[in-house]
Amino acid sequence: MGKLTNFKRSLWVFHASGGSCNACDIEIIAALTPRYDAERFGIKLVGSPRHADVLLVTGAIPRDFADKLRRIYEQMPDPKAVVVIGNCGTTGGVFYDSYNIAGPIDEVIPVDVYVPGCPPRPEAIIDGVVKAWLKIEKLEKELEGKKE
Ligand code: SF4
Repeated sequence: MGKLTNFKRSLWVFHASGGSCNACDIEIIAALTPRYDAERFGIKLVGSPRHADVLLVTGAIPRDFADKLRRIYEQMPDPKAVVVIGNCGTTGGVFYDSYNIAGPIDEVIPVDVYVPGCPPRPEAIIDGVVKAWLKIEKLEKELEGKKE
């Protein structure tokens, strides 16, 4: 994995739960609590997508949540990245092909990083967020290059 070099501030994360069973969401919370303490790396959960660099999404997306998820994604400023947490969001999981599911998350919004597992462990979630961080660094360098 590459080194973080260019990103000059903390990484702010917004969490959207779209029809998950809650276990993936609990593991995200576990990544923030004192045992793993992701905030010591500057990874902070925020309450609005307008402030977020990274979107964490859990669950296969129910049809009535798909538009809301698109709106959350559009509200985030560029550069941004999306991380899918868990098998349901990655493939549809046990809900695959259900009549009321819009599909895995990448059928609704673009996805940058997949963290599979049912649920994935906090270490894997933190690793996924760091991969998203590297992607945002790359996008930011490209944007800076265009300005020069
Ligand atoms: S991947 Fe597993 S733990 Fe996560 S929402 Fe789906 S069923 Fe629940």
